Amino acid sequence: MSQASETRKLYAFERMYIDPIDHEQRGEWPMWRLRDLAQHIWSYEAPDNWYPPEIKAGRGVKMGDKYVSYCLGRSEIVLARDQRFPSILVHEVAHALRNGDVNHNKWYTRRYFTLLVKYLDYNPLLLYHYARENGVAV
Ligand SMILES: [Zn+2]
Repeated sequence: MSQASETRKLYAFERMYIDPIDHEQRGEWPMWRLRDLAQHIWSYEAPDNWYPPEIKAGRGVKMGDKYVSYCLGRSEIVLARDQRFPSILVHEVAHALRNGDVNHNKWYTRRYFTLLVKYLDYNPLLLYHYARENGVAV
């Protein structure tokens, strides 16, 4: 699968199965709370000598007609204005934990799902089931 296709499929899957849960059950979080979550995840998941990324509120990067969040290597995560949800933070932290690799391949997705289950209580069976049903490589 091409990188663009992997990304498209993962984003579509997120819009259908991740965002609704996040938006309904948790809502947007203040930055301090998102930073706490990032710190918590990082302390358990990152190698000891990896400094945690800085979590910033920013404009994001333009993708099509909207601005989206992004991570820069493993040093910085920028959360766009209307995207300050815990699952979006976890999405970006999963990139940072892969040393900033921005691909959405199956290794990325597995790491991302592991974090969603462990830190945000997503149901692993449903995640994998719906991901496969939507053509996301896991
Ligand atoms: Zn991503």
